[in-house]
Amino acid sequence: MDDCIFCKIVKGEIPSAKLYEDDRVLAFKDINPQAPVHILVIPKQHIGSIDELDRQNADIVAHMMPIIKALAEEYHLESGYRVISNVGEDAGQTVHHLHFHILGGKKLSVQMC
Ligand code: 5GP
Ligand code: ZN
Repeated sequence: MDDCIFCKIVKGEIPSAKLYEDDRVLAFKDINPQAPVHILVIPKQHIGSIDELDRQNADIVAHMMPIIKALAEEYHLESGYRVISNVGEDAGQTVHHLHFHILGGKKLSVQMC
């Protein structure tokens, strides 16, 4: 996707503070952190959101979850953290490339919506 910010980050066309990378996944610091630790974990392949997952491509999510767990451990979120993926307009998704937010490093609000 030529105009996708996260695809540009994957290609190195936009700089990012990378925290983890393998052949399929990239994790980097959110540019506008909402918590002391705010990490974005994305597939390198362009998938618009959870809504675009299907039987062919959904294995990427199983690949990403242990990476999320390892990052939480690396960034000392042992007292807890939140993993969020916004999908579509009502959820306020602003970047239409699948991503999981990892939020932690403080007592998070219990309000979910
Ligand atoms: P969404 O609202 O789509 O769930 O989350 C998109 C996230 O991407 C936001 O938290 C926003 O701060 C972050 N973001 C947007 N553009 C950039 C960028 O160029 N670099 C980084 N590191 N984060 C970005
Ligand atoms: Zn993309």
